[in-house]
Amino acid sequence: MVRAIYPGSFDPVTNGHLDIIERSSRVADELIVGVLNNRAKSPLFSVEERVKILEEVTKKFSNVRIKSFTGLLVEFAKECEAHVIVRGLRAISDFEYELQMAQTNRIMSPNLDTMFLTTSLEYAYLSSTTVKEVAEFGGDISAFVPSLVEKRIKERISQGLKK
Ligand code: ADP
Repeated sequence: MVRAIYPGSFDPVTNGHLDIIERSSRVADELIVGVLNNRAKSPLFSVEERVKILEEVTKKFSNVRIKSFTGLLVEFAKECEAHVIVRGLRAISDFEYELQMAQTNRIMSPNLDTMFLTTSLEYAYLSSTTVKEVAEFGGDISAFVPSLVEKRIKERISQGLKK
């Protein structure tokens, strides 16, 4: 039984993330999407909101669960009894950071490996930051995120809570 963790901020989840979730859920027996509660960042959506949104948009995948975590990823992986970490790679710019993280995590937890899935071409440009920027300027984000996320971002922006 292979249990994998796909960690990230998911602020908000994009179609690029969903593509990685769908593909890795086919490789792993069980996939836990780990939503990082990073107190240093001030997110558009709280960790509880991000968990709820992810639960909603991944409910069609029967072997995917959503959990939030704080602190070290290797500790969260231990808690979940996970065997592998999944990360997505877009451009070369992702590579350096991801390599460093994967190597650091493997020193700390030698039995925990990181598996990289390369982005699908149609999502190679897509990031949560870009989505937020486009939305803040009133642009159409329907090609980038699920409709639920589009709706939630619009509500958030119209409430004047954008950060
Ligand atoms: P983090 O803050 O940890 O980078 P993100 O939510 O931005 O979290 O991303 C989580 C993971 O998803 C990272 O491995 C990132 O490279 C990957 N990812 C993000 N967007 C895409 C995309 N469009 N295609 C493939 N992978 C992606």
